[in-house]
Amino acid sequence: MRRNWKIRIFIGLAIVAFAYIQRCTNKEENPYTGRVQNISMSTDQEIAIGLQSAPQIAQQYGGLYPNDNYQAIVDQVGNKLVNNSIAKETPYKYEFHLLADDQTINAFALPGGQVFITYALFSKLNEAQLAGVLGHEIGHVIGRHSAERIAEGNFWKTVSMGASVGADAGDIVGSIGQNTLLTNGREDELESDDLGVLFMLRSGYDPLEMIRVMEILKEAAGPNRVPEFKSTHPDPDNRIEQIKSAIKKYENQF
Ligand SMILES: [Zn+2]
Repeated sequence: MRRNWKIRIFIGLAIVAFAYIQRCTNKEENPYTGRVQNISMSTDQEIAIGLQSAPQIAQQYGGLYPNDNYQAIVDQVGNKLVNNSIAKETPYKYEFHLLADDQTINAFALPGGQVFITYALFSKLNEAQLAGVLGHEIGHVIGRHSAERIAEGNFWKTVSMGASVGADAGDIVGSIGQNTLLTNGREDELESDDLGVLFMLRSGYDPLEMIRVMEILKEAAGPNRVPEFKSTHPDPDNRIEQIKSAIKKYENQF
């Protein structure tokens, strides 16, 4: 019995060690943001995941908005941001989708370039504010945030497997893992706001409109606030401070 226990600890530690080594070897510098990230998938895989999940996600928001004129505006602003920024030099395939949902205020990006905005949010924005939202979402794509979160999730899964083999403490490690994911999510939002401001400036939009977007999101907060926003988006007030410093940082370059 005792010997068996020792073997289990050994196997558990070996699995945890394996997870750490894998994490260290998966480090790579993002050529577009300069940030070093843990990523275990190729850009082709990111594009494939995005394309594969896009129809299903669109369905959850009532499918695509039926008015082609509004969709054309979303395409026009989205493509303008891509063509005037480093996003154009990436291998990603950008597509901007206007979703029919007129109740849920939301926008999001899938890995590889699939970007979505609900009609509920679209209808509250002027062109520059739309550019702010789409620029932020393009920031998630080139920041490779989904791929990073998937790699992080796999790391914690392996660690918790090792821990549960060794000491049946998988739940404890599992909860640390979840916290880590949330913390990363907040940093992702701030990096995307920063890139969004840069993309707005490059396309000739007033970056102060990004602050107005935050105010619109804040006004939308309340009993009808969607859980996605609550869990993954930091408080709009914090974001406004960060956006102000991003504007200061980039303003002189234009
Ligand atoms: Zn975001």
